[in-house]
Amino acid sequence: MYDYLIVGAGLYGAVCARELTDQGKRVLVIDKRPQIAGNVYTEQIEGINVHIYGAHIFHTNNAEVWNYVNRFAVFNRFTNSPVANYKGELYSLPFNMYTFNKMWGVVTPEEAAEKIKAQREAAGITEPKNLEEQAISLVGTDIYEKLIKGYTQKQWGRPCDQLPAFIIKRLPVRLTFDNNYFNALYQGIPVGGYTKMVARMLEGIEVRLNEDYLADRAAWNKMAKQVIYTGPIDAFYGFSLGTLEYRSVRFETEVLDKPNFQGNAAVNYTDAETPWTRIIEHKWFEFGRDEEGNDLPKTVISREYSSEWKPGDEPYYPVNDEKNGNLYAQYKALADQEENVIFGGRLGEYKYYDMDQVIAQALVQAKDLR
Ligand code: UDP
Repeated sequence: MYDYLIVGAGLYGAVCARELTDQGKRVLVIDKRPQIAGNVYTEQIEGINVHIYGAHIFHTNNAEVWNYVNRFAVFNRFTNSPVANYKGELYSLPFNMYTFNKMWGVVTPEEAAEKIKAQREAAGITEPKNLEEQAISLVGTDIYEKLIKGYTQKQWGRPCDQLPAFIIKRLPVRLTFDNNYFNALYQGIPVGGYTKMVARMLEGIEVRLNEDYLADRAAWNKMAKQVIYTGPIDAFYGFSLGTLEYRSVRFETEVLDKPNFQGNAAVNYTDAETPWTRIIEHKWFEFGRDEEGNDLPKTVISREYSSEWKPGDEPYYPVNDEKNGNLYAQYKALADQEENVIFGGRLGEYKYYDMDQVIAQALVQAKDLR
């Protein structure tokens, strides 16, 4: 008999497992995959840590979370600076003075601000109601058309005027020459990969892999007093109220016989025609290896294709629009009545959480259970 059965060995599950174990509770972690670490899982290919379920760059403003993860890994000083490729034209991301200079030839922050203001006014937007209006009011129509519209439609499979505005607010807009994608005090990637970091979180804790909780829930429930469930909340309830929408991602990963494919970790293809959203070149996540990286004769790249989730696919991104928000609220009402089950993480709470938010939530939850 365990105190807690934790379903899912991703970040939420691993942090809960660590904290509860350290509180003296008996914990069992299960995961249906053959490996730990959920979607932050990395695997070595040709000596390069490959982000198998998509790029993960740790960034946070939360000092407690930063100190916490540093207990389990040394972080390199990688700074995310993706490049946007629009039909062969390259632009700096996030939107900053380099982007504005390339787009319009403007040189000063004042000129850039004027240009944005003029385009916003011409579009007649006062209170942005959706992603399209939000984007235009932040950066104007030219940048919206070239760097946002196509990418967002591919990423979400929906037109920008049917998506919530908050998604685009993830990206900073700066009137400075700063290509750092994140406004976070702390940023980096665990040296040796995320899998190693999660393995350290789970040190000394019983983990059983290839175990599907939902396939035999009655038997699993008997094993513990409480369950912490980090899978999709709608799957937990057998989709009885309907399916929540998710975006899934398919990766085409290739080993190339050249040392340097694109000279950057992430290149976003922002036109609507290119079928992939971005290409990740994994070796460039490992900061400090620029020279070594060029010496490595091979490189590993992943093309990322976004698709609507259907049963059997991996869910990646919750589609946090109004319709899904209402359905989630109904599932949440059921979840709140559960006496022995706690829901957490991106899938359990149906929220577009970043890694640091997931860890922060797990730490709060574990404290609550003390
Ligand atoms: N986005 C865009 N163009 C880009 C990069 C991002 O329009 O080149 C928009 C897009 O709607 C995306 C959102 O900004 O879904 C958030 O991007 P972020 O890089 O934070 O997404 P993630 O890395 O989580 O997929």
